[in-house]
Amino acid sequence: MKKSNPFEGAIKQMKKAAVKADISSEQLEHLSYPHQQLEVYLHLKKDNGQTQIVRGFRVQHNNWLGPYKGGIRYHNQVDINEVKALAFWMTIKNAVVDVPFGGGKGGIEIDPKTLSNTELERLTREFVQHIAIIVGPDMDVPAPDVNTNGQIMEWFADEYGKIIGKDCPAVVTGKPLHCGGSQGREEATGLGGFYVLEELVEKLKLKRPLKVAIQGFGNVGSHIAILLQQNGYEIIALSDSKGGIYKQDGALDAGSVKECKKINKSIANCYCVDKICGLSRDNKGDITNEKLLELPVDILIPAAMEGVINKKNAPKIKAKIILEMANGPVTSEADQILKKRKIMVVPDVLANSGGVTVSYFEWYQNIKGEKWDLEKVRSKLKDKMVKAFDTVWEIHKKKKVDLRTSAYILALQRLSSKAQKI
Ligand code: NAD
Repeated sequence: MKKSNPFEGAIKQMKKAAVKADISSEQLEHLSYPHQQLEVYLHLKKDNGQTQIVRGFRVQHNNWLGPYKGGIRYHNQVDINEVKALAFWMTIKNAVVDVPFGGGKGGIEIDPKTLSNTELERLTREFVQHIAIIVGPDMDVPAPDVNTNGQIMEWFADEYGKIIGKDCPAVVTGKPLHCGGSQGREEATGLGGFYVLEELVEKLKLKRPLKVAIQGFGNVGSHIAILLQQNGYEIIALSDSKGGIYKQDGALDAGSVKECKKINKSIANCYCVDKICGLSRDNKGDITNEKLLELPVDILIPAAMEGVINKKNAPKIKAKIILEMANGPVTSEADQILKKRKIMVVPDVLANSGGVTVSYFEWYQNIKGEKWDLEKVRSKLKDKMVKAFDTVWEIHKKKKVDLRTSAYILALQRLSSKAQKI
């Protein structure tokens, strides 16, 4: 079967929204292609002395609103069409949440779990050497994404500093606090999604408690799971790449699952209820990633990879709301099916924009030499997320279009008016 191309799907979604947005056909054509894409071949020196050739990419989609901005993913299935789609979504996302950045993304085709820490560091530093010429605080600012973290960003900033001959923390965001990171960056994507969901629940006047299933329990999935649990939502299913846990009656204890996963590595061994964790697989608690998506919940949160809700399983989804915390988890075909079935999708370009918002705060603090406390970061993040949600909601009501189309209309209008001034 031919693998679907997420970039083509993303452009299709944009063109559909563009019919209702004020944007010229030339500008739309411009946005249908990235400005540039760099493919590099890294010669990774393994600990055993052998060399492994590894492919990496950096795509710069658009910079009308500011420097290209977007994460770097380490995954064995990274490919150029995925990175192009992710870079494009960053352009749209930054416009929706109104931060002065364009869209970019990077990826390395590797499973980092197969590498030692020293190999991971060597790989990262070599990648920086290859892409240093096209990144920089005013040009292109990377960040973490799937399987990358603060440590990798610290190596990135350090290597870049060596290349240009001076410290330059603003070249990358998502750094640890001790080397120029921002308070609140790690929790930001989950917290931003939580603010958006709370606004939506209020607008729809949904009766609480609400049942939630979350696919993916990394940075994004674990933070939003814990926040939702703390705020009275019932987390009935969680998963990671190896499978999931499911509690039909009552709720899982997401905080304990996170602690347990740190020790046991896999979520399947962490069936935790009321702070007590089962360390062995419980037949009743097991659920596959596919089945998790089809559970009868109020809110389904894909927080792992793209394309997981597609034309095959969209007819079987039972959730009332899908909050897209992953990038591109719903394909354009599935979008149509879900719309007909009146399942509300909160699009990635709104729901997960908290991460890049706090990345913007981090970059700003680095440039200005400021250090904000956590309270200030959270309050500014909340303002941004609520404002973006309200604007998208207004368009949704006024133009009678779904939330994704509304978010795209908002983004395209902002992009178009900025492009006219350039
Ligand atoms: P992460 O590496 O911290 O976690 C990814 C999680 O997904 C892990 O639990 C992993 O086991 C799971 N996973 C991987 N492949 C899977 C599969 N095939 N099926 C089910 N689970 C799988 O990554 P993250 O930073 O949490 O990113 C998750 C998603 O959120 C990605 O789509 C990413 O692009 C998006 N996102 C992340 C940020 C951020 O700030 N980190 C911001 C915006 C969007």
